Amino acid sequence: MTAKILDGKSLAAEVRAGVKANVAGLASRGLRPGLAVLLAGDDPASKVYVRNKVRACEETGIRSERHEFPGDVSEKALLDKVAALNADPAVHGILVQLPLPAGVNSARILEAVSPRKDVDGFHAESMGALLSGAPGLVPCTPAGVMRLLEHAQVPLAGRRAVVVGRSNIVGKPLALLLLRKDATVTICHSKTRDLETIARQADILVAAIGRPKLVTAGMVKPGACVIDVGINRLADGSLAGDVDFAAVREVAGWITPVPGGVGPMTIAMLLENCLLAATK
Ligand code: NAD
Repeated sequence: MTAKILDGKSLAAEVRAGVKANVAGLASRGLRPGLAVLLAGDDPASKVYVRNKVRACEETGIRSERHEFPGDVSEKALLDKVAALNADPAVHGILVQLPLPAGVNSARILEAVSPRKDVDGFHAESMGALLSGAPGLVPCTPAGVMRLLEHAQVPLAGRRAVVVGRSNIVGKPLALLLLRKDATVTICHSKTRDLETIARQADILVAAIGRPKLVTAGMVKPGACVIDVGINRLADGSLAGDVDFAAVREVAGWITPVPGGVGPMTIAMLLENCLLAATK
């Protein structure tokens, strides 16, 4: 069997076109969604992520503003900026690019963002809504994974889903979203024993680990849907996911490539969250 490729690039382009049309519709009512991005320090990957997000906003007509701070920025300066953005009616979404510099308490900054403007879905109130099944802003990467699954009509209800990785930004919220769709969900992590056996039971296997090619063909049930969230930079400069794509695609029923799978969906979901925050 050769797996069907879940093409995040083309689905993300569709989502972006939809956002663009909606933004144009809002303009006729005098409303322009606005996103503010906070970036602190010199992390090169963060700079690339922020540039891509700002560019995606421009393409869809969402206004964006970037607020950059040096690596030695004080927590107070960031909190003051967040407070000003919370009060600014032209700003509908606030994104704090992680990681923040050492010495800044990231949780305190994220909790300062108004939940109404929490387009990353990292605020405790957003997390609580996700847990209880209430409507709210959902973290972008997990939302993007769910959209890919839905678009490909991968059956979820009653199926066994295994999420490898338990971070607050990917693994945990994704497990909750899969549960919402009636999957039977197992979360695995670095202390899980016999990962291979558990992974092989999965109808939907998600890798959100950050270890290149950790998921091998032997860990995949034939016909399963394999979602690779990982983005790993190899020594030769190339990108690899957490899944051994070449081998696993011969076993799986569906698979996401890296790049071109989950990554583009993350930004597309951010744009949708900005739209949602502006129109709520
Ligand atoms: P994280 O470091 O916060 O969490 C990694 C998780 O993997 C942890 O819960 C840990 O317990 C688990 N883990 C580590 N080693 C393991 C092992 N040997 N076996 C089983 N579990 C193990 O990472 P994160 O922020 O959740 O990101 C995970 C990956 O996804 C990274 O490669 C990151 O770059 C990528 N990512 C991609 C996107 C995207 O848009 N595609 C978005 C966010 C993160």
